[in-house]
Amino acid sequence: AAQPPGGAPAALPDGIAVCVRQRPVVPREQALLEAPHEFECTTVVPPATVAVHCERVSLGRVLEGAGGERLQTKKFAAHRCFAPGEGDAALYEAIGAPLVARVLAGGAATVIAYGQTGSGKTHTTQQLLDRVAAALLGGVRAGASLELSAFENLGDKCYDLLNERAELALREDADGAVHARGLSTTALASAADFERAVAWGAAQRAQAATTTNAQSSRSQRTTFGIESVQ
Ligand code: ADP
Ligand code: MG
Repeated sequence: AAQPPGGAPAALPDGIAVCVRQRPVVPREQALLEAPHEFECTTVVPPATVAVHCERVSLGRVLEGAGGERLQTKKFAAHRCFAPGEGDAALYEAIGAPLVARVLAGGAATVIAYGQTGSGKTHTTQQLLDRVAAALLGGVRAGASLELSAFENLGDKCYDLLNERAELALREDADGAVHARGLSTTALASAADFERAVAWGAAQRAQAATTTNAQSSRSQRTTFGIESVQ
């Protein structure tokens, strides 16, 4: 649904919600931006629109002597857009907290981060994961426990990040759900367990990134799963 610019963010829908985050300009880019005629090519219009600015050269205008370049802006609607100044805590409140509530009520939730290299997927998902794990650990029913798994897909291969990158066989069941056979899990009893496991998984991944070629890193995906068991 269309929302007035600057209005209060609507609650995310129960099904699939699409959110956009514009990360802050990093120091390396700050230097680039200081060059003449450079500008940030996206602007978040709160609460749910992102504007993308693109320089267009019009040959007609050049020939008329009117100057060739003009800025074209396209606006895209999402369910929620986060401006660079909105921190990780705000993102957790908007995206993480409702999903944690759903999971603690017995449901399931998935977060997928999509974007080009350097756009902030790892930063955002690690910040989210830390907060999600703490909230789940605090909210899980007595008698239940949490288990973490982590795996990486590289092309059509799958590796267990919590078991020395053992290769996992992918099998499709009768319902079309894909399972990684033999995927290991580790119990999550405390936030410290969780931090250790995520740091370990991330290190396993980083190590792989330097030893695989550019082709496979282009089709690379890391998945962390947390499941509640009785
Ligand atoms: P990706 O995983 O999409 O390749 P990263 O998460 O590694 O991207 O982010 C690229 C760089 O931008 C890193 O230096 C990271 O620290 C920084 N960065 C990303 N998102 C943010 C953010 N929300 N706030 C501050 N720095 C960020
Ligand atoms: Mg990354």
